[in-house]
Amino acid sequence: MNTANLLEIKNRINAAALRAGRDPSDIELIAVSKYKPAEDILEAYNAGQRHFGENHVQELVSKIELLPGDIKWHMIGNLQKNKVKYIADKVCMIHSVGSVSLAEQIQKEAEKKNCDVDILLEVNVAGEESKSGFSAEEVYDAAMQIAKLSRVHIKGLMTVAPFVNDPEENRPVFKKLHDISVDIERKKVDNISMRELSMGMSGDFEVAVEEGATFVRVGTAIFGERDYSKK
Ligand SMILES: *Cc1c(COP(=O)(O)O)cnc(C)c1O
Repeated sequence: MNTANLLEIKNRINAAALRAGRDPSDIELIAVSKYKPAEDILEAYNAGQRHFGENHVQELVSKIELLPGDIKWHMIGNLQKNKVKYIADKVCMIHSVGSVSLAEQIQKEAEKKNCDVDILLEVNVAGEESKSGFSAEEVYDAAMQIAKLSRVHIKGLMTVAPFVNDPEENRPVFKKLHDISVDIERKKVDNISMRELSMGMSGDFEVAVEEGATFVRVGTAIFGERDYSKK
């Protein structure tokens, strides 16, 4: 972890926002700390960072226990239904809801815990085989079904764009997620907000900001390469 990296990313987000005529304060940086030790998170925290993203339930839960209570945790990874119970009342938002049945499971746990859960619908915009999420075609109907769940609140959309060498290649993906959110917003359905767009990672977050991201999820560019051999 390097505080200078964090500040540089923030400056680049601000510059991208201004280029696009947006207010930089409308974009929240989520520091993706998966595979990184608690000390790295604390260092970023001490530099003022409050939003962190994790993609494994167990790792997320143990970090929540160790770290300051005012951190806003974002679940950004594939979430198994049997693990919803461990995080439903502990996270700021679940970004990776890619099925109606997962949303129903979140509702069940939220009822038990008497809490409300904010979620994003994950859309596999590029239609990649390896990625989870709703297809662009099915997300609208899914949103209508999930909107009926009293304790689950749709706040917007999320996508994991393809891995590309030139970030410009992902501009159409980000544009499309934005277009889908505008279409859904237009229907003015109770319990659906399309305020948030979670898109953009280390390699392409500036393009995502130019295309309307409100959350960018940046790991490597802040914390350095991940070591997948240890955890
Ligand atoms: C790991 C991860 C990120 C961060 O990726 P970097 O390329 O390290 O910035 C963002 N979003 C999701 C869903 C991830 O799993």
